[in-house]
Amino acid sequence: RYLAAKDVRRRFVDFFLNENHNFIRSSSVKPYNDPSLEFVNAGMNQFKNVFLGIAPPPALRATNSQKCIRIGGKHNDLNTVGHDSYHHTFFEMLGNWSFGDYFKKESCEFAWNLLTSQPYSLEPDRLYTTYFGGDASLNLPPDNETKEIWEKIGVHKNRIIPFGLKDNFWEMGSSGPCGPCTELHYDHKGTVARPDCVNRDLQDLTELWNIVFIQYNRKEDGNLELLEQNFVDTGMGLERLTALLQGKNSNYDTDLFMPLFETISEVSGLQFYKGNFGPDDVDGLDTKYRILADHARMIAIAIADNVLPENSHGLRRVIRKSLIVSEQIMSRNQGVNESFVATNLLLEVIKQVSLVLHSAYPEMEFVLRNESNLWINLRESVKTEWKKLLTLDPNLEKLSDSQNQGLINACRELHSLGIYSGEKINRKMALTFYDRYGLSSQLIEELASIKGLKIDMDMLIKDIKDLKEINKAALMVSFKTSISGTSLLSSIKHCDLTDDSAKFQSRRGCN
Ligand code: ATP
Ligand code: MG
Ligand code: MG
Ligand code: MG
Repeated sequence: RYLAAKDVRRRFVDFFLNENHNFIRSSSVKPYNDPSLEFVNAGMNQFKNVFLGIAPPPALRATNSQKCIRIGGKHNDLNTVGHDSYHHTFFEMLGNWSFGDYFKKESCEFAWNLLTSQPYSLEPDRLYTTYFGGDASLNLPPDNETKEIWEKIGVHKNRIIPFGLKDNFWEMGSSGPCGPCTELHYDHKGTVARPDCVNRDLQDLTELWNIVFIQYNRKEDGNLELLEQNFVDTGMGLERLTALLQGKNSNYDTDLFMPLFETISEVSGLQFYKGNFGPDDVDGLDTKYRILADHARMIAIAIADNVLPENSHGLRRVIRKSLIVSEQIMSRNQGVNESFVATNLLLEVIKQVSLVLHSAYPEMEFVLRNESNLWINLRESVKTEWKKLLTLDPNLEKLSDSQNQGLINACRELHSLGIYSGEKINRKMALTFYDRYGLSSQLIEELASIKGLKIDMDMLIKDIKDLKEINKAALMVSFKTSISGTSLLSSIKHCDLTDDSAKFQSRRGCN
């Protein structure tokens, strides 16, 4: 039976409500009073002070689905996004917590029962569990208690794997609360899960759920002491779980992302998302679609929580990257209506994001109310970042409106002529950018660099000088006999091709 993402999310929360947990709303992605983090990156962030013993717990048991962003610091998945099927910049972390209430046994049983019973009904033989295998150098004992709990639950011993410090011991910082984790992984291919499996190919496993048992306090001197109260902190990626439950290998093939791909191909007029990765993604479009869809989600979520680009370096970076990708997608369709620019594509995808997510996160509705302040702000921010990108100039004030317009026109011309990254801006076109669009040679050089185009700057500078001379001369003679600057353009037109291609070839020959 097909389970939509919203039902996957609801089922998780309902399961824990039924086990006497309190629903605590997702916090904003902007951390509250925590300068050490640019974005909330885990469900536990809003409970940090409870674990530190500074704040009282909000309940004995809690559950929610937390909006998380991982683009910096200890958790930075930004450059992975688009290239694999299960890391996103923004994702939802389904979580349950015990604040001094239940501990290891109940946590493992909850997780196992939820995943293997209806309506999730994951195949038990495809689930692997890990436990902390200990670390002698740090004097940390193995968490055999958890190992035995999994054995009792009935997980085959070959699918209970000891993991080391990096993956299975959680610490908040160099001191403070910490403890071993146990994880549930899923075997997507079904090749690993044989009851007698000894030779495990862990490559085929995807981490699904991380359960942390906060049982120690690491003191300033590095020694561990047992906490008076034990805590449980868990997190499972909604997108990963949804992919499994919808029978997909990739998070992008779920109803969280497919509507975004529909928007991308509608607006760009290009093919629908094909779901290829790496070398199979021959034209690179699938990867670009994934990056754009992912980043549009992050941007929409961040802005809905009042993170504004002017105050957030991380958000600015993601907006810029998604604009570059949007531009690359738009320029693939040579016949596309020239009034469509990269900003339109990004904004349309963001609208679609809010349609997908607003029922779970009503703060996303700002996008749907077209003239809300946040939406206007978002639209303007995206346009501003686009102009900055085009000019590579973080100090926009230095450029006049007509220069900005000139850059946009020049981009459209390149686009409509189908001139792509790696190709060359020919001599005539470069001079047109100067003469018709009012761009300085420096701006033309920057435009070429951001678009990845080659340009002969010496030639352009010489041509601009000649053109100025001609224009000056034209002023001197009478109206009737005036020589217009365009005569230089037309004289270049004839020699252009041979001229450039000869040079291009000789340069290649040198390499
Ligand atoms: P991974 O090893 O796959 O990067 P992680 O160990 O960094 O995951 P945790 O910090 O344990 O992840 O977070 C808990 C859960 O959140 C993970 O088990 C996974 O399901 C999900 N998750 C983590 N990072 C991402 C991400 N970038 N995109 C989507 N889901 C994620
Ligand atoms: Mg990670
Ligand atoms: Mg991990
Ligand atoms: Mg983990």
